[in-house]
Amino acid sequence: MNARQNAVKSIGTQVTTRSGLVDYQTRDLTEIYASLVFTEAVQKERLPAEVFESLQQTVRCGGGLDPTIAPIVAAAMRDWAMEHGATHYSHWFQPMTGGTAEKHDSFLTPSGFLKAIAKFSGNELIRGESDASSFPSGGLRATFEARGYTAWDPSSPAFILQNPNGATLVIPTMFVSWTGDSLDQKTPMLRSLDVLNREALRVLRLFGNTTANHVECTLGVEQEYFLVDRRLAIQRPDLIVCGRTLFGARPPKGQELEDNYFGAIPERVLAFMTEVEFELMKLGVPIKTRHNEVAPGQFELAPTFESINLALDHQMLVMQILRQTARRHGFVCLLHEKPFAGVNGSGKHNNWSIGTDTGENLLEPGDTPESNAQYLLFCAVVCRAVHKYSRLLRLSTATPHNDFRLGAAEAPPAIMSVYLGKEMTDILDFIADGHTESEEAPHSDEAQRAIGLPILKKLKRHSGDRNRTSPFAFTGNKFEFRAVGSSQNSAAAVTVLNTIVAESLDFAATRIESEMAGGKTFKAAVRSVLAEMIREFRPILFNGDNYSQDWVEESERRGLPNLRDTVDCLPVFTEPESIELFGKYGVFTESELHSRQEITAENYCMVRGIEAASMIRIAQTMILPAVIRHKVNLLPGLTTVTQRKIMQELDEKLDMLVQAIETLKRRLAGVKPEMSVMEKATFYRDSVQKGMYALRVIADYLENLTEDEIWPLPSYAELLFIR
Ligand code: ADP
Ligand code: MG
Repeated sequence: MNARQNAVKSIGTQVTTRSGLVDYQTRDLTEIYASLVFTEAVQKERLPAEVFESLQQTVRCGGGLDPTIAPIVAAAMRDWAMEHGATHYSHWFQPMTGGTAEKHDSFLTPSGFLKAIAKFSGNELIRGESDASSFPSGGLRATFEARGYTAWDPSSPAFILQNPNGATLVIPTMFVSWTGDSLDQKTPMLRSLDVLNREALRVLRLFGNTTANHVECTLGVEQEYFLVDRRLAIQRPDLIVCGRTLFGARPPKGQELEDNYFGAIPERVLAFMTEVEFELMKLGVPIKTRHNEVAPGQFELAPTFESINLALDHQMLVMQILRQTARRHGFVCLLHEKPFAGVNGSGKHNNWSIGTDTGENLLEPGDTPESNAQYLLFCAVVCRAVHKYSRLLRLSTATPHNDFRLGAAEAPPAIMSVYLGKEMTDILDFIADGHTESEEAPHSDEAQRAIGLPILKKLKRHSGDRNRTSPFAFTGNKFEFRAVGSSQNSAAAVTVLNTIVAESLDFAATRIESEMAGGKTFKAAVRSVLAEMIREFRPILFNGDNYSQDWVEESERRGLPNLRDTVDCLPVFTEPESIELFGKYGVFTESELHSRQEITAENYCMVRGIEAASMIRIAQTMILPAVIRHKVNLLPGLTTVTQRKIMQELDEKLDMLVQAIETLKRRLAGVKPEMSVMEKATFYRDSVQKGMYALRVIADYLENLTEDEIWPLPSYAELLFIR
């Protein structure tokens, strides 16, 4: 038996035991929830009233923190954290690596000869200095001026991360260079929230809303992932190094029987999920649903939506806890967008909405004609934004991993479109065609009711009919952006979304104001601006099957962009339109956009480079020797002419394998240091990646010819089905 078969055997005899870690019997769920978070309630209990008020003011409305309260807040946090076993604190940030970063500092500070005190000052809470030289900055700073700063984000509460031997107080922060350029995902996202708030309030005031003080986005992120038994995963260098399989013949059974989706969750997996949820619950992450996904070995969890900044931090924690907990359960959790060829990849559906601090969801119809006009305007504004800036939205999902998923007839395609459903589309059509109040609506009942906007009659709540193939779907009272990849930080996508929606709100408000200045009533102005917008963004609306070839052709006729991969997307970062948009709203400076372009391109090259090198190594040191051994074993047994045909085929394919390895090596060597990063990225896609594909095809073919006992890599069937 080889190592692979041994692993299979040991998994086969494993029994799931109760860990005792998760204890819902003696502890109340509601008591566990957020027990490791420095919540508003804890703050209220531990801070002097005026300090608490001042902090809450900053949390709610942003702006600077009163520096005089920082030491008081820090001391309260420290005491609370130490009572929960924390010995260290850490500024926690989201650099451009895609993950999170943390550096732990001890509370313990020497004070006098062999004496120490526990210290955590206001300054230590507010600001950290961090060597930025090892984080991607895309040329924003040279190594000699490597200082980067982490700055406390009071709108996301501090929390405690436990480990088997202790605990750390974690402070969510932004990460900026000493010149103030953002080096992270959070800073621009917070900036985008500010402008969205400003422009949305402007529109609300036009509608006569004087009570809302703040508009905020809500976000609920569904997370898909794969679980693979660790004993098998560690025998796949490609999974360990690249997070995805680079080889693997298609198994006799994939996902075609569709017997996995929403099927009974295997007990061992359920034990894992329960512990994940328990850990997340302590951190105040409101996980709501869990289920099997479409592909074998694929699962999903989703939280209840939250205010967007908190939801994003929680999303990062979800990924971290999934990975950590998997290890404890003998699994490897694969968050890669496409770990297995031929079965569905994993995405991250971003459910996004906007609402007021008075509790109104602006994407939900109301009870009065005015509120329905407002509802339609907000929906229309989002559609306009997606139409006008669909390339930017596409860019926000571009990673070398997600390239294998988008457009692979499973996930949403790379072509951006908006699904509104028939009723809503009819209403918009009706408005766009300029019908007046007295005219009969030729469309559905819904459109009948919408006759003569703005004196809309009561609109039914959106029926929420679903189109699973759409990359950007209106689902009742929120939009669901499905193109984001499973391992991505959603902040990139929502930063773009917030900004482009802010721009459209700005556009709508300005147009309504100018129509009114020209003598129109408010209602007439809203109607004509709506009609104007709808006529403009109509091509982005698509209710049909996004996976079909027809749509590819139809979208081309409509003039919609089809940016197929990351390399296609890269130029969008620094197009004049992008620089103008992000500059105008202060979300990214031009140099920040250049830096992000550089980081994305470099990351693309590194990922493909590592994958290609891994393939060569695996092919040379594992696959080639296995096939040769197989050949040698086989040789003496082949006696007849027919039997020798087996050898002939093996020899042919072996030659092809050797050639494919050589070709890939040659292509990889074709990446020259003098190339610009864009040239490199293009070369990786057009030359290296094709070489990788060719090598895989022949290696996978040989997997089906080689004796099972000899084949070193756990097979797809083993990885996907054995748990
Ligand atoms: P699906 O059919 O896509 O699974 P669900 O109704 O289960 O849809 O909701 C998916 C996600 O949408 C959940 O995370 C949920 O919290 C989130 N969601 C619901 N309402 C809103 C909202 N107003 N804003 C943001 N997210 C929301
Ligand atoms: Mg969904």
